[in-house]
Amino acid sequence: MKSCPLCATKLKAIPIGGKVRQACPSCEFVHWDNPKPVTATLVPLNGGLVLVKRKFEPFIGNWCLPGGFMEASEHPEQSAAREVFEETGLEIEINRLLGATTPGRGINVLILFYLARQARGEMKAGDDASDVAAFRKEELPENIAFELHRKMIHDFFELMHKIK
Ligand SMILES: [Zn+2]
Repeated sequence: MKSCPLCATKLKAIPIGGKVRQACPSCEFVHWDNPKPVTATLVPLNGGLVLVKRKFEPFIGNWCLPGGFMEASEHPEQSAAREVFEETGLEIEINRLLGATTPGRGINVLILFYLARQARGEMKAGDDASDVAAFRKEELPENIAFELHRKMIHDFFELMHKIK
């Protein structure tokens, strides 16, 4: 962001609230650069976990949990269910929030991990997925995108193993 979205003045680096931020010298606008919330949902199916193959960058062709950016005014659970439906064709019911975390390294998102169960529908890749499948632990693909997704998938199977 280079210029003020309110008055078009060029933004300046100004210390505000203990950090140097891009802010407008002519009006009150501050580019806070807050993280954007995204959801990632674990949907157990047929003894495995539903993953989608990414159709777009980043990590095109890699697999990951279904999810994406929240829309304005959406409840996060609604957002999670919408993304799962768009990418996998599955209608889900949210079981619970597993955790909220940030990847760091300048990736400015807040990831909400949900556990859900399939309610209706059949798996069918759609929207920004080129393929969708349920993988058992021993079948997991090598190329899973995003460190935090890999960790969550690993933790899920560890927990499943303990419950058995
Ligand atoms: Zn301004």
